[in-house]
Amino acid sequence: MIPYGRQDISDQDIQAVLEVLQSDFLTQGPAVPRFEAAAIAHCDAKFAVAVNSATSALHIACMALDLGPGDILWTVPNTFVASANVGLFCGADVDFVDIDPATYCMSVTALAEKLEAADQIGRLPKVLIPVHFAGQSCDMRAIAELAQKYGVRVIEDASHAIGARYLDQPVGNCAYSDICVFSFHPVKIITTAEGGLATTNDPKLAERMQLHRSHGVTRDPKLMDQASEGGWYYQMVELGYNYRMTEMQAALGVTQFERLDAFVARRNLLAKRYDELLTDLPVICPVQNPDNYSAFHLYPIQVENRAQVFAQLRENGIGVNVHYIPVHTQPYWKARGFEEGDFPNSESYYARAISIPLYFGLSEGDQDKVIEEIARATKVI
Ligand SMILES: *Cc1c(COP(=O)(O)O)cnc(C)c1O
Repeated sequence: MIPYGRQDISDQDIQAVLEVLQSDFLTQGPAVPRFEAAAIAHCDAKFAVAVNSATSALHIACMALDLGPGDILWTVPNTFVASANVGLFCGADVDFVDIDPATYCMSVTALAEKLEAADQIGRLPKVLIPVHFAGQSCDMRAIAELAQKYGVRVIEDASHAIGARYLDQPVGNCAYSDICVFSFHPVKIITTAEGGLATTNDPKLAERMQLHRSHGVTRDPKLMDQASEGGWYYQMVELGYNYRMTEMQAALGVTQFERLDAFVARRNLLAKRYDELLTDLPVICPVQNPDNYSAFHLYPIQVENRAQVFAQLRENGIGVNVHYIPVHTQPYWKARGFEEGDFPNSESYYARAISIPLYFGLSEGDQDKVIEEIARATKVI
């Protein structure tokens, strides 16, 4: 089976993890700060906070922005459930903004309309989470302008987009957001097995995210409300979690970071090749906004008779997948009052979507086989 995505682990990655295993620290040692430094350098942000998943990163980001009961979070339906769930973790209400049918990212028009309506009834969101779907940044300049106008804080869910660029700047520099979040799950661009990270330029937000990742406990005298009682002393100043990344994960992340540019370049080359090879087939290819250099986490196509095409491709060794079942159509979210038809662009995209194989190690030969099987599957019907 040719998978839709997979990690690429080098001898150097393996060596880096082995060295940690033979060292003094398996957690809370020097590797996590080294990984964070690599993220800061790459993203051109002031601070980075590494955690055990992007879900945790989204959660501490929401907590740092004081999202709580009575507040509202908005994201898109075309995302992994975690982007919405984190609002509920904080006790907030969650609502959605539909996607742009061309880029599958948050629609700026839909956002503008929804903000205007929400303002009129006094139901503006506190936090907005645009998702850089498939690795392509949302139109962050326009989103930031609207967010500023209505006093909404912005967390970029860039789980798909490490290594991507928007308006010639690295995604993660938070030029148009408060916080930006990445995932390092093995199907994403670089991996730490499980892992996530949040970048920000705001020292206060960085400090609160660091607290929330580790029990709300600090050894920093500046954050304590009384003098230290001795070398053992720490204080719990907020209710936090244990969301720490291990040293093995961080060491893997450091060596993965060294190949990030090569990973993204290869993904772009393969995506361009897909664009060309799919031209004559009855499929819709993903549209790229010229402001973007995508990280191409995914290459999603749209086809007629998706279920049949999907089944036939899987039967013939092509490990396709679907991104995403609109979050608001999940039973848990329907029970919260959402219905089929609420976000038609996300739903009609989903009805035809298939993510076809795209990863660093995908050979041109295997890519040709993918094309051949898509040609067969779409013509038979
Ligand atoms: C993968 C993903 C997440 C969750 O990432 P984890 O690291 O698995 O927690 C969140 N949002 C999006 C858009 C994702 O693709």
